[in-house]
Amino acid sequence: MNISPDKTRIGWIGAGVMGASMAGHLLDAGYKVTLYNRTKAKAEPLIERGANWVDRPVDVAKAADVVFLMVSTPEDVRQTVFGDEVLQKGGVLAGAKTGAVVVDMTTSEPSLAVEMAEKAAVRQIAFLDAPVSGGDVGAREATLSIMIGGDEAAFESLQPIWKILGSTYIHQGGPGAGQHTKMVNQTLVAGVMISTCEALLYAYKAGLDLETVLKSIATGAAGSWTLSNLGPRIIAGDFEPGFMIEHFLKDMRIALAEAKQMKISLPGLALCEQLYRGAAAQGHAKDGTHALMLSLAEMSGIAWGAKAEGGKGKAE
Ligand code: NAP
Repeated sequence: MNISPDKTRIGWIGAGVMGASMAGHLLDAGYKVTLYNRTKAKAEPLIERGANWVDRPVDVAKAADVVFLMVSTPEDVRQTVFGDEVLQKGGVLAGAKTGAVVVDMTTSEPSLAVEMAEKAAVRQIAFLDAPVSGGDVGAREATLSIMIGGDEAAFESLQPIWKILGSTYIHQGGPGAGQHTKMVNQTLVAGVMISTCEALLYAYKAGLDLETVLKSIATGAAGSWTLSNLGPRIIAGDFEPGFMIEHFLKDMRIALAEAKQMKISLPGLALCEQLYRGAAAQGHAKDGTHALMLSLAEMSGIAWGAKAEGGKGKAE
């Protein structure tokens, strides 16, 4: 397939934190985008910028040569791709034409990616799993790392699109390899989230100036994307997502289930999942992942938020 704005019609499903920015980049590049999202209101800014709204995933697929999904959970992916009998909404596979490419960018299950690739192949549709890393910032700035599994020829043909959405886009192997790579990524993020929050908690209790501490540690051996991007938000007491705790919990559950199947022990990841489950139960499910700080601070009897105001590390 030759991809270009004048020849290729794009379908896009999912206009949340990530999907809205990503679909916006395709509109900016001149592509015709047909759009569906569960809640239409969230799609309005894209509609105002020229996206064509339709009411069902099946209609997105009918109007597109390449269909992208950026929804929330594996259940949402399943519903969107295979259709929803209760709501009587047809799915992407029912609408996609022979030769189309379907790309799931949601963080989802490797086994579901394999199932979808097999079912798509029967209809001569190529399927790619292509989850991303880089957060809301990466989606906004089009600097995502895209981890791709599935048909290599389809991956190659989509080079012009990968370039628009990300700065790193690598084919990792057959169906499910993209999702497996994302689970590797999330296992790393889990450890880094705990250490970032605990380190800042220590700095705070030691009476250090948090912003000044960040200047020293962010560029040293302990530096990370999480520290540089989420550290300042933690210090400012800004726990807006970003990346929602409920989505991270979903990712850790997938990674732990895969680890169980592979008969490997990942106790660090299991601990992180427990801590985040606690944070969600405390009311932070829809906060950003860095809101783990609120939960950890509470364990130490520290009310974060206002007390960390200005990053001065005042004693509570
Ligand atoms: P989000 O803000 O919750 O967006 C998901 C969007 O998908 C929402 O607009 C939602 O509709 C829509 N949706 C869900 N189920 C649907 C369905 N069945 N039919 C149609 N639309 C549906 O989540 P996000 O932060 O953009 O993340 C999207 C995916 O990327 C997740 O799998 C997440 O784990 C992953 N991810 C996120 C980040 C990040 O930093 N945010 C980074 C990397 C990967 P409503 O508007 O009705 O809710």
